[in-house]
Amino acid sequence: MRASLRGLALLRTLPLLALSVLAPACSAPADAAASAEDDATRGGKIQLLVTVDWEGRDLRDDNLRAMENLHARFPDVKLVHFLNAAYFTKQGADADATKAQMARVIAPGDERGLHIHGWKRLFEASGVTFKSGPTFWGTTLGPEECTSDCGHEVPISLYSADELRKVVRFSVDKLDANGFGRAKSFRCGGWMAKDSVREAIRAEGIRYEQSAVPTAFLAPKLAPYPLHGWLGEIWQGTTETSQPFTMPTAAGDLVEVPDNGALADYVTADQMVAVFEANKAAWLRDKRRNVVVSIGFHQESASRFVFQVEGALARIKEIAERERIPLESITSERVRAR
Ligand SMILES: [Zn+2]
Repeated sequence: MRASLRGLALLRTLPLLALSVLAPACSAPADAAASAEDDATRGGKIQLLVTVDWEGRDLRDDNLRAMENLHARFPDVKLVHFLNAAYFTKQGADADATKAQMARVIAPGDERGLHIHGWKRLFEASGVTFKSGPTFWGTTLGPEECTSDCGHEVPISLYSADELRKVVRFSVDKLDANGFGRAKSFRCGGWMAKDSVREAIRAEGIRYEQSAVPTAFLAPKLAPYPLHGWLGEIWQGTTETSQPFTMPTAAGDLVEVPDNGALADYVTADQMVAVFEANKAAWLRDKRRNVVVSIGFHQESASRFVFQVEGALARIKEIAERERIPLESITSERVRAR
């Protein structure tokens, strides 16, 4: 809580810095400014990905307002939205209202990617027989839990690549039909992007997979559950400084973009800034290369956690300006695998 309050205090005191901060400050000595410019033109940058996982559970006004506020405070920060088609498959869903609620928090420069959780109604709408477990928590869902919709905690890696292709295709088509375009990037529900998931998304035209996560960040909340162990196996060796790499699948290569700063429900503003600092240190060792930092939050808990992201953004931008670090807010298409 102390960290959170500190983040908020900083946010109030810091001026809103443009993320194109990247340019050297006017008061700098000319030689320092020139050398920073040289570095920036001949070399890499710190590339910041700010991601939002849309869980497919609900679209509440308090969460959407928190996202509108984030955009208003940081208009130069692009968001990478991993959108979910499950909102359109809820019982009695009003497609026009759903579309309008989602669209209201997506800015023109933002990216529209894809997120999938194991929702029963989404899988059935895609023509796939629903599986009720084992869930992230080691349980199996009973009929009493599925009166309206259920399955958020069922890992989609339980399904075959052929089954998943149907769900990916349904989701991309549904989002496209509602004006959100065809996703090129993906994050898996619960970060559970095992082989069948990676093959399915690649076969359906997705290029960027963004589920690799350092499980150390998740341990305080998830360690008692099977999910934590599964993620430790899938993403073994992933750390806060892991960088994009080529991930082969049976359907072709993906660019795997590590979610190296995880998501705000699991990390504080202080931890996000620490991830930035660790990656900044890597960039300083070799300025010719881009270094990617990924932080983010969930749409469904934005009202509770987005202040952590805002606190981190304010401090990251302040550090970049003060230390003349070339920082850019990017979407997935700017990412290159090493
Ligand atoms: Zn999710």
